[in-house]
This record gives sequence, C-alpha cells and structure tokens, in this order.
Amino acid sequence: MSFTLYGIPVSRGIVIGHAYLFAPAVLDVPHYLVEQDQIEEESARFRLAQHTVQQELDTLKAELPDDAPGEMEAFLDVHSLILNDDLLVDAVIQLIRTRRYNAEWALATQLEVLVARFEDIEDEYLRERRADIEQVTERVLKVLAGVPGIRNIIAKRPSDNMILVARDIAPADMLQLKNQAFRGFVTDLGGKTSHTAIVARSLGIPAAVGVTQASLLIKQDDLIIIDGDAGIVIVDPTLIVLEEYRDRQRECAIDERRLQCLKHAPVVTVDGTPISLLANIELPSDARTAVSAGALGVGLFRTEFLFMDRCMPPGEEAQFEAYRRVVQEMDGLPLTIRTIDIGADKPLNGHDAYESAKNPALGLRAIRWSLSEPRMFLVQLRAILRASAFGPVRILFPMLMHVQEIDQTLDLVSEAKRQLDLTGFSYDLNVKLGAMIEVPAAVLALPIFLKRFDFLSIGTNDLIQYTLAIDRANNEVAHLYDPFHPAVLRLIAMTIREANTFGVPVAVCGEIAGDPSAARILLGMGLREFSMHPSQLLQVKREILRVNLPDLELPLQDLLAATEPKEMQAVLARLGTASR
Ligand code: PEP
Ligand code: MG
Repeated sequence: MSFTLYGIPVSRGIVIGHAYLFAPAVLDVPHYLVEQDQIEEESARFRLAQHTVQQELDTLKAELPDDAPGEMEAFLDVHSLILNDDLLVDAVIQLIRTRRYNAEWALATQLEVLVARFEDIEDEYLRERRADIEQVTERVLKVLAGVPGIRNIIAKRPSDNMILVARDIAPADMLQLKNQAFRGFVTDLGGKTSHTAIVARSLGIPAAVGVTQASLLIKQDDLIIIDGDAGIVIVDPTLIVLEEYRDRQRECAIDERRLQCLKHAPVVTVDGTPISLLANIELPSDARTAVSAGALGVGLFRTEFLFMDRCMPPGEEAQFEAYRRVVQEMDGLPLTIRTIDIGADKPLNGHDAYESAKNPALGLRAIRWSLSEPRMFLVQLRAILRASAFGPVRILFPMLMHVQEIDQTLDLVSEAKRQLDLTGFSYDLNVKLGAMIEVPAAVLALPIFLKRFDFLSIGTNDLIQYTLAIDRANNEVAHLYDPFHPAVLRLIAMTIREANTFGVPVAVCGEIAGDPSAARILLGMGLREFSMHPSQLLQVKREILRVNLPDLELPLQDLLAATEPKEMQAVLARLGTASR
C-alpha cells in the first residue's frame, strides 16, 4: 500500500530506488530463557557471531585505504583483542550455561558488568576503552540480530539502486558512505543543519531527515521515492505517481546539464561586482571535488572529521600530512582550516564528557574544548602552521564568544609559532587568523573581534541554533529552526555591515550560504564571500549571475525593518525568495 512520510528536506533532487535498512544500534535486545537442551546450540550461536565479527575486523584491516588515519589499524587490533578476551567471551558462555540466558541477553548483561568497572577508573585513556567494548559488543549484537554494520552495507550492497533508511546516521558513519553509490538517504532523526545532514548534502544526493518513524514503517527493499526538495518520502508509489516523479527526474537532469555550463563562468553580478564562491570540506579527499566544482578556495575545512572514528587523536605528523595534502591539492588557492569543533552532535568516539553532558551544545565544544586541552590544541596549531609553508592557509577558530577566549587562543598561536621557531620548522609568518561568528554574543561584541582578527566567517548553522534556542539536530523542534527569522537576519546583517565598515573581510560558511533562495538577501546585506558544499556552488552561482546589486538596496532595508510575517513575506517575494 502506498503512503507518504513527511520530513525535512536537506539535499535537493528526486531519487527512486529500493530501501536498504540500516540499524545503527541494537536498541532492543531480546530477553528469553533457552531450554536446557539448547544451551550448547545457543553457545555455538554466540561463538559463530564472534567469529563473524572477527572476520569483519580482519577484512576491514586488510582493506584499509592508504590514506586511512594512522591509528586505524591499532584501533582494529584493540577491537580484536576485546572480542577474544575471556572477560567477555567466557563470561557470556557462563551466563548462557548457568542462567540459560539467550546469547544477546548474556552479552548485554556482561557488557553492563564491564562498563560498571570502567566507571571507577581514573585514567582517562583506560576509561575511554569502555567505548571500544561497547562498539565490539554492538557489532556482535548486530550479527546475532542479522543486522549488517555500515561497512558491511558498503561492502555487500545488493545493488546500486539503493536508498539508505536509518533511524540516525552518525556523522562519522556518514563519512564512510562518501564516494559510495547510494542514491539517497532517509533518517528518522536530525535537523536541516545537523552534521549528518551537512555531510549528506556534501554527497550531493537527495536526502530527507527527521522523517519520524521512517525506519520502522519502511521495509527492506520497499520501492521509495525521495523528493529532496519537499522533504517527503513516498513508499510503494502508484504507477501514476511514479511516472510523475520520473518526469521530474528528467527535468532535474536537464537542469543539471544547464548548470554545468556555468562551471567556468566568472562569478559577477549584473552590475559587475565580483563575488567569491568558496567550498566547505570535511576530508582531505574533498579538496579535489571543491576545485573541480569551480570553487576559488576552501572557506571552511572542518578538521574535526579527522579526529572521529579513532581511539587516539591524530598526532602532529598525521595532521600536518593531512593539511599539507589539501594545501597541495588546492594548488595556490586559499585554504581556510578551522580548528577542531568537537562536541554536541559531533562527538569524538568514546569521549564520555560529550555523551553524558545534559546540554552538549552549550557545553565544552569547539574552541572551549581546544582551550581545555591546550597541549592537544598546540599540536593542531603547529600542524596547521607547518602546512602554511606550502601554500596560502588561513586559520579559523570556532565558537569564540569571550574576549578572554580570544586572547588565550591568540596566545596559543604565538606559543605554537615560538615552538616551531625553536625546532626550525618554517611557516607563513603572516598567516591570517579568523573567527567564526556563531553566537549572538559575538555579534553584539563584534568590535572585539574586528580589532583582533584578520577575517570573520559567519557560522549561521550555530548562530540560528543559539539565537532561537533550537537544537539544530532535533527534529522535534526543526519546524522552529528558521534561517529567515527577523532576529537571525538582523544579526547576520549587523555582522556584515560592521565588518565591511571596518574593512575586515567577512564570509558566510553556514548552510544558508549554499541556499540559492538566500543568495539575494545575503548579497543585499553586503556579503561578497560565500562558502558552501561544492554540490551547491552552481545553483548559487546561477542566482548571483542574475542579480543587479542596486536593485536589492530598498527591499533589503524593508526586509530588515519588517516586523510582521506578512510584511516579510511580501519583501521576500519582491526579492524572488518567496519559494522557500
Ligand atoms: C556553522 O555553525 O554555521 C558552521 C559552519 O559550523 P558547523 O556547521 O561545523 O558547526
Ligand atoms: Mg558551527
């Protein structure tokens, strides 16, 4: 029977394909007692699952790509050790034999015992091994439940015509899916600018998030349509609907071909004002995509993705190599490297503090985390500075808010430079330093930033979250996450105006920069530098090529003065943005 589910559009386009269900975590472990005469069979079922996981780990290790983070192999070895440890295996078999628990129940029980022991350990490194035990256990539970892990899905996907349906996909898992031939994504959870959605958008394929209960209502192999423009998912469509969407797919393909013709056109408005379009990237390998999409540089390299999915943070050499690789890939184009922005919906694996914090978005994230770990921060700063010797690099700091944080950050940059001077490493002595404007307090205290930094970049994803008090990853309040809220627009406009008055270059690197329907508003506010996922570049470019800047002046004044939604809608319509 055909039915439609409604969610949040995150990546445009239409896709038709078959559902492939991915359960990221085994939420409900079955509990039952096995019959006395089935105990051996149950133990063997557990052993078989253990063996299957061992094979998975061996395959993963054998197939590690050359550019995989250095510690990935050690991480897999640790998981193999845990998988074969008596504390896990013998104890589970004992529970099956003595208490007649089924294998999943026995494993979950033993996990609880082991995790409880870790609670009291003071050594942070050892405490973090708890996450490894949980991950290994989860792998075994998935095998017992017949659920494939994300890497298995990649390895064994039945066809290329596949749409991934999941309750949620962690940003790190989403990264695993880069360069894989999935045609689309649907998740139960998430908001428009959750990091999972951002990575999905960077893949340039249709996706909808916050589609409540999709992973329960959609069955394996169901035929589904994702309308990425509307954020709807049609399950088991009728023939008429299917034909309608096939037509729309053909129209999209024609439009895409038209867009490709703009690839080499210079980005100038009708009145001749040049506009700079830069790319947001997550991995060193994204740099090539950015250049081939026509980006004039990278406006945001989210380095935290280098730190995810591993047990230890990458050391100075590994980071330096990653940054240098991007600098070289950019071949003289500017590269803006943002220091680690970890926390909230981007947890470091096993970093307990984030998972247990009640309000992680208001907690120790981004620059706050870096300043609380100055040794680790210095490692990153040295690695970035060293990469600056190979091409134009700018350093960007996330979520600064207080003058003390700014001064501490700048002191650490000086300290990193001093350390490099002592060891004889070269770096760009004039490397430019920039601040992200992501919290309302930063906008209201802008002169502090303008005096101390060479450039600014407005992180609208967080600026919206913190202005409207809406968790950007929470689908329950996603309908209130409004980039066009008057308060948000005024904060963005203030930042651009003051920066322009002061002569400090300012960019927008939040998702709004890649939204063609926001281009006129941002241009009208005086923005001349946009940074977005490469997949959005051509659509925004097309919009910019149609704009005559003087025409925007009056509507923009009216927009910023408007207080009633009706007035705002009228101005947005005049600006040609009514289709939002
Ligand atoms: C932002 O907040 O707008 C931004 C670009 O940073 P991130 O999405 O990585 O938090
Ligand atoms: Mg941010």
